[in-house]
Amino acid sequence: MDSGMTRIDPPLYLASTTIACWRCGADMPALAIIAPNVPETEGTVCILSDIRSLPGKIRAFIQKRFPTFKLTYSRTTRSKYYANTCPKCRVLSGDFFLHSEPGGPFFPESEEEAAQLTLVEIPMDGPIEVEAGLGMGMGEIILKHARRGEE
Ligand SMILES: [Zn+2]
Repeated sequence: MDSGMTRIDPPLYLASTTIACWRCGADMPALAIIAPNVPETEGTVCILSDIRSLPGKIRAFIQKRFPTFKLTYSRTTRSKYYANTCPKCRVLSGDFFLHSEPGGPFFPESEEEAAQLTLVEIPMDGPIEVEAGLGMGMGEIILKHARRGEE
């Protein structure tokens, strides 16, 4: 997990899908932010995880669509980060499970699985700074195969 701020250049994408809450089974939205232009990774497409700070405009864009994506305390990481939470029982589904476990929605094992995700571009005025971990490896297949959603 990185600490400190990371600069991200446009564009930025929101990838989303619906999963079943691991605790109560309710349908819940799960989303991840994909950043293809992170200067410090020299062109590697990154998936942001354990997001601890996000610019207000970006946060507002996301939370307008997905109010269940919010700053939540995680007992696993013992910190607060912007996490996907269940609309019914409010439990958090951890980024580790969603991003790093084979079969997790943001760890597609095939082009077909990547195509289950919907992608929307997040409007940006210019470069931003976030405090987040950078997941490398799966962003590219998601960007290539996810469905383009409506803006
Ligand atoms: Zn639930």
